[in-house]
Amino acid sequence: MSGPAHSAADAQELIDHHCHGIVPGRLSRTEFEALLTEADGPGPFTMSLFETQIGYAVRSICGPVLGLAPDARPEDYLSRRDDMGPGAVAEALLSDLGITAFCVDTGFQPDRLTPPDRLGALAGGVAAYEITRLEAVAESVIGRTDVASFADALRAELEQRRSRSVGFKSVAAYRCGLDLDPERPSEAELRDAAGAWLQHIGAGAAPRCADPVIIRALIWAAVDLGLPVQFHVGYGDADVDLNRCDPLLLTPLLRATAGSGVPIMLLHNYPFHRNAGFLAQVFDHVFVDVGLALNNVGARAPVVLAEILELAPFTSVLFSSDAFGLPELYRVAVTLFRRALGDFLDGGLRAGLWTVADAERIAGMIGASNARRAYRLDG
Ligand SMILES: [Zn+2]
Repeated sequence: MSGPAHSAADAQELIDHHCHGIVPGRLSRTEFEALLTEADGPGPFTMSLFETQIGYAVRSICGPVLGLAPDARPEDYLSRRDDMGPGAVAEALLSDLGITAFCVDTGFQPDRLTPPDRLGALAGGVAAYEITRLEAVAESVIGRTDVASFADALRAELEQRRSRSVGFKSVAAYRCGLDLDPERPSEAELRDAAGAWLQHIGAGAAPRCADPVIIRALIWAAVDLGLPVQFHVGYGDADVDLNRCDPLLLTPLLRATAGSGVPIMLLHNYPFHRNAGFLAQVFDHVFVDVGLALNNVGARAPVVLAEILELAPFTSVLFSSDAFGLPELYRVAVTLFRRALGDFLDGGLRAGLWTVADAERIAGMIGASNARRAYRLDG
């Protein structure tokens, strides 16, 4: 279980290229469980979301950090959390993770979560960069424009956001599915789509950006601005139609953006992570991860990481936690990722495919240097 490559994986610096902030206040058991998995919370039939791979991973990995036995009962874990208070819990769980930078998606529930700089401070002074969510920008612009000015206002706002972001992110998967027309929409198409959206809003609808024409315009505007573009792919909460989230649906758009010089970052990917590995092999500008999935598959994390690494070049795979709300999720992500990477690299060593020095270099690429290169992070 613990060969020489595990030491390399354990010592490796990590860049978390996709995560969110944490909820800073106290949480009830129901609120905690609602943040634990992708379910909205425990129900009358599941009863407790601690009865999951991630539930046991939190107990065994985070319990000892908070001074508990690794088999503490959920109620004891939560009462220990309450006794310590949310700030001390966050600092304990976020300390010494070996993470040197966070790339934080600020587009979902920003009022509920800590902003990037606060997250970095809680983790002991870790650099924290912002990823701007494209659909959230459109939703902020539509309320202060009209049909004629929408397109220009949208581009101006994205340009402005570019200066403080290291990447953009699209949640097209949640809004219209990934089977996007690869063509850049015309100005007339964009005007018509903005008109239809404004009419919906005028009729009382919430300003939710779900029109595929507007989403394509956002993606192309982001590509024009030259920053990496992340896509939510695969596994997510009950709001996602998973059958419209296979990364293979993005193939036409990946072909269309292949010459742009802009990295496309496919996030999560589970259970389509082998398909994502294929895309990373055939498209130079495609990067992939299995963040979120590793947390939720728990003891199976080594299998899932190994599966995306079947075809994906080692220069195209990244670490992410996709942690949201709970500091536990960063710690579980780091721990399971290091174990999985160590297992994978030791397998190659045993098979005589690479040396210890190679394993260290591969760990360095996947852990940090691929992210540093794609996002052009300093240092
Ligand atoms: Zn996320």
